[in-house]
Amino acid sequence: MMNDPHQKVQASHLKRNAYVYVRQSTLRQVLENTESTKRQYGLRQRAVALGWAEERVIVIDSDLGQSGASSDREGFQRLVAEVGMGHAGIVLGLEVSRLARNSMDWHRLLEICALTDTLISDEDGAYNPAHFNDRLLLGLKGTMSEAELHVLRARLQGGILNKARRGELEMRPPVGLVYNSEGVLGLDPDRQVQHCLRWLFGTFARTGSACATVRAARLDHLVFPRRCRQGARRGELLWGELDHSQVLHVLHNPRYAGAFVYGRYHAQRNVDGVVRMHRMPREQWFALIPDAHEGYISWDEYESNQLRLHESARAIGTDRHRGPAREGPALLQGLVLCGRCGRRMSVGYHSRLGQLCPEYRCMHERIQHGEAVCQRVPGAGVDQAIGALLVEAVNPVALEVTLQVQRELQSRLEEADRLRHAQVERAQYESELAQRRYMRVDPDNRLVADSLEAHWNETLRVLSEAREEYARRREQDAHVLTQEQHSAILALASDFPRLWSDPSTPDRERKRMVRLLLEDVTLNRGEQISVQVRFKGGACRTLHLPLPLRYWQIRLTPAAVVDEIDHLLNDHTVLQIAGILNARGVRPGGGATFNSRVVTRLACTYHLKPRYDRLRERGLLTLQEMADTLQVTTTTVKRWLQRGLLRGHPYSDKNECLYEPPGYDSQPKTPCAKPPLRRQSQASVPNRSKEVQYEA
Ligand SMILES: [Zn+2]
Repeated sequence: MMNDPHQKVQASHLKRNAYVYVRQSTLRQVLENTESTKRQYGLRQRAVALGWAEERVIVIDSDLGQSGASSDREGFQRLVAEVGMGHAGIVLGLEVSRLARNSMDWHRLLEICALTDTLISDEDGAYNPAHFNDRLLLGLKGTMSEAELHVLRARLQGGILNKARRGELEMRPPVGLVYNSEGVLGLDPDRQVQHCLRWLFGTFARTGSACATVRAARLDHLVFPRRCRQGARRGELLWGELDHSQVLHVLHNPRYAGAFVYGRYHAQRNVDGVVRMHRMPREQWFALIPDAHEGYISWDEYESNQLRLHESARAIGTDRHRGPAREGPALLQGLVLCGRCGRRMSVGYHSRLGQLCPEYRCMHERIQHGEAVCQRVPGAGVDQAIGALLVEAVNPVALEVTLQVQRELQSRLEEADRLRHAQVERAQYESELAQRRYMRVDPDNRLVADSLEAHWNETLRVLSEAREEYARRREQDAHVLTQEQHSAILALASDFPRLWSDPSTPDRERKRMVRLLLEDVTLNRGEQISVQVRFKGGACRTLHLPLPLRYWQIRLTPAAVVDEIDHLLNDHTVLQIAGILNARGVRPGGGATFNSRVVTRLACTYHLKPRYDRLRERGLLTLQEMADTLQVTTTTVKRWLQRGLLRGHPYSDKNECLYEPPGYDSQPKTPCAKPPLRRQSQASVPNRSKEVQYEA
């Protein structure tokens, strides 16, 4: 008979090993389908029956629990390697499907078996892949095994899809939902779990933000349930702190709204064989049946939650991650690392005097766990310093120096190259010498010939290694700059500062330039801002920048102006002072002009003594006191003042005066012993923010 195994097995096969390949697709099969596993191990006896010695039969069973469709099976790889090296006389498998369920693996195995004259055996018989008929049969068996897998899968998948279309497919429910004994999905009877989920949806409805929900949970020290998905505690509830991704997961999951969904994610295998899950847009979901079961929120609430999440995602923007350079003015977007925790910092903007001011923030802990922002660094000063650093680094002088160094290095490399070449020549000489010695020896003198041959081989190996090393190092060093490249580099250096400072260069282009030159920038905010800049190529620079002034500090009136007001108050009213200062071209902190209001406010803020008190201290009398002193009516006092019979000093803008008593020598006297006046009861601590508020 054609397929008598004993006819195919030759002495040359028996000299080599017999490999028995054992595999079961899943761990469940390994546990439950023990009969099949036993039969597979039984193949060992079959190999012995075919003539292999017991110790020459090797069982490869490291692929138990792996599907034949996957090609990353360790045992199978080992089998192919053994066959390829000619160690195998026969490969035994219970059936072809055990060896491979995909054509690529199977045909590769056949090809290698044919080349190394290795037999293949299954329960039906032994085959020699080098023979056309056998190979045809094996090829067919392989194709059928792949087709069988496809049919099995299609049948299973069809059943699943049909059930999913009707909404009857049982899927692993998210935490908070469970199947009851009748197989109907409903709320988890555990009150605490229910309470937690209701709290989450309620808090999101109130705050409208997932981050705020995380913060609220942190504030109230709430713990949240999670369902353990794998391992020994699979299916158990674990309690832990709520984080941002969990909140998003719950909010995005339509099953909490009582809907049945299938096909939200699509698994795709990429070229490396790694399976990735892709989230599908809603219109591509395979099944969506709203109100299929009990839920925590209504479908309308779910929809509105999605809308809010979408809006806030847009507001936050993808600017926070490293990605392509975008339009905003923050120069270092996507390149900044936090000097405290090492995470990538994001960019935020705020407006100051109509201009967008960037700020670098480390938000990870804030977003994920609702903790304080790790650090915020004002961006304007940092960006400016980086710009100056780049313009300084890319200038013709600096580049000329670099090119000089490069030329110097080049000449040293040429010397090293000569030395290395001498090494190759030496190895060549040794090998030629060994060859000549071997050629001269009498071939019958095996002992000597063998040792000389071995020596020759050794010298040849050394020679080829030396040549490889030489070629490798030469290629490494072969970065010689041509004259053209040289001048192109210098031209770039003179173009760069011009391009950089050109106001018509868009921010995005500037950012692209930064990305070409810098690897990353690490920021640390302490007494000052430390900026560690890492250039492409490894060079590092550290800058120390002062913290920028706060807004109120910028708007503060200079101390000299305040002193001047203090001085002027001795002889002038606030209105007069405002006029004098404006005439001198002095400006208050906000940058506007002085008026009586501004001067009064400054006097008040800096506790300057009011003009009224100063005049009183100088011994001047009020209208009533003057009238009492002169024993006339107040009207008479006013009339005498107008006629110049008395001298008065105005202390307010309404022309109210204090009067010089008779015999006044205009020298300051001791302060009057009157009770404190209204204007003295002002707040005793200067309130700077008050000044700002007032002027703004
Ligand atoms: Zn940080």
